[in-house]
Amino acid sequence: MDFRLSDEQEAMRDMARRFAHEVVAPRAAEIDRTAKFDRELYRRMGELGLPTMTLPEAYGGAGVDSLSWCLVIEELAKASTPVCNTLVLSKMTADIIHDFGSEAQKREILPRMATGEAICAFGLTEPGAGSDAASIRTTARQDGDSWVINGQKMFTTCASVCDWVIVAATIDKEQRSRGIRCFLVPRGTPGFEIGKEIELMGVRGEGACPTFYDGCRVPKENMLGAEGFRTLMKTLDGARAGIAAMAVGLAQAAFDEALAYARERIQFDRPIAEFQAVQFKLADMAVEIDAARMLTWKAAWRRDSGLDYVQDASHAKLFASEVCGRAVDQALQIHGGYGMTKDYPIERFYRDAKIHQIWEGTSEIQRLIIAKQILKGS
Ligand SMILES: Cc1cc2nc3c(=O)[nH]c(=O)nc-3n(C[C@H](O)[C@H](O)[C@H](O)COP(=O)(O)OP(=O)(O)OC[C@H]3O[C@@H](n4cnc5c(N)ncnc54)[C@H](O)[C@@H]3O)c2cc1C
Repeated sequence: MDFRLSDEQEAMRDMARRFAHEVVAPRAAEIDRTAKFDRELYRRMGELGLPTMTLPEAYGGAGVDSLSWCLVIEELAKASTPVCNTLVLSKMTADIIHDFGSEAQKREILPRMATGEAICAFGLTEPGAGSDAASIRTTARQDGDSWVINGQKMFTTCASVCDWVIVAATIDKEQRSRGIRCFLVPRGTPGFEIGKEIELMGVRGEGACPTFYDGCRVPKENMLGAEGFRTLMKTLDGARAGIAAMAVGLAQAAFDEALAYARERIQFDRPIAEFQAVQFKLADMAVEIDAARMLTWKAAWRRDSGLDYVQDASHAKLFASEVCGRAVDQALQIHGGYGMTKDYPIERFYRDAKIHQIWEGTSEIQRLIIAKQILKGS
């Protein structure tokens, strides 16, 4: 087994590391403080092709593999979780359009997403349907050559700045998940309203809003994934490895901050890094972060190798998000009282970390997915 990255993967990681350090990190605290989506920064990420780098070149992508993408996401997440998440969302929605859109839709939308000029949001969660996605109440009714959508979505990331939203709706409630389809809704479509931005404790500045659909009419070709929701969900499994990579990046950033602080903070006439209690925390964090990274790489590698990776993506997402939670907690502890202040980034990391155990399927839901796979195989 060879754990070395290829020259291209190393180069990709270096590029992302530099960009995260020089461009994203200096803006991260301000984005968090104002909770304002940084459109200019998103365009700069577009200049580097970051929003859709795994897409084929024909649609504006760079055709890079999933592992390279995870390396880039880890680097960006070290600087800012909300900024990085817009890239994970972009890959996910671009993948849906690529896998299920018409050729005309792909040619119109994907190159604009690639350059960062346009953004596509994804609305699945509703006020009454989160983990139980099959119970969504938003409906789509065929009327001549159109679909008419009615309902409400919650937590639609990037809704405030999106040019399209891919919204999940049921065409037959009786069929539960088998009745769910996705629909491409352009901003400005009559009957599509974007609500007020949601005040969040973490991941601030990624434009998450409720969205409303009241007699919202789209052409019939805007239905994506006529095969049904399960097929669509397979595309979404790829995003789960991205969440794991984000969690690894944030955990690593927390570790780096803690290590630097432990070396410089003097108590009892010596750096606190000399106390074994602090060393053990650093050691545990280092081991867990490495293990989370390896699970993430494995899931990405299996995807790149054309192997089934559903369970691996859940392993990575579950473990990395929980490691991230422990890492920010221990890193803040090493900072003592100063960890609670805005003078150090660790308090932002602490607030941002929690989301990884919630979105793209909570930790509990990941355990259900993993258990189902285990039992299926026994
Ligand atoms: C900042 C942010 C951004 C988001 N962005 C998007 C987005 O862009 N698009 C989108 O569609 N959604 C988005 N979401 C929604 C997110 O995916 C959901 O919050 C998540 O799926 C959980 O759903 P819920 O919040 O309704 O919790 P619930 O499903 O109500 O769960 C509440 C608790 O019950 C537990 N639980 C539920 N069912 C079970 C079960 N069967 N067994 C054991 N435990 C269970 C859960 O694990 C959780 O701990 C976002 C959320 C946030 C906070």
